[in-house]
Amino acid sequence: MKDTNFVCPICSSKDLTLQHEASYVYSYKIDSDAPGLQNKEEFLSYLYDRREQKDSRYYIQCNHCGTQYPYSIFRESLKQGENDFII
Ligand SMILES: [Zn+2]
Repeated sequence: MKDTNFVCPICSSKDLTLQHEASYVYSYKIDSDAPGLQNKEEFLSYLYDRREQKDSRYYIQCNHCGTQYPYSIFRESLKQGENDFII
């Protein structure tokens, strides 16, 4: 791991996390028993028939002040090999 320091421009904290936020719609066919073709005795949400991703985004979050930054800014700095990068 390279010794690169990423610093929050709001509070100067180096405690940053990459977050992946996604939303899905899970579908369950209605059949003669519990909803979902794979569910027999009871409905279990992880036994779905179809999953469709509706939205997805990556962002960097400062764990100190909560400010969020676009992941694209972070990626660009990695490409350029900058050290002590301030987002
Ligand atoms: Zn911060």
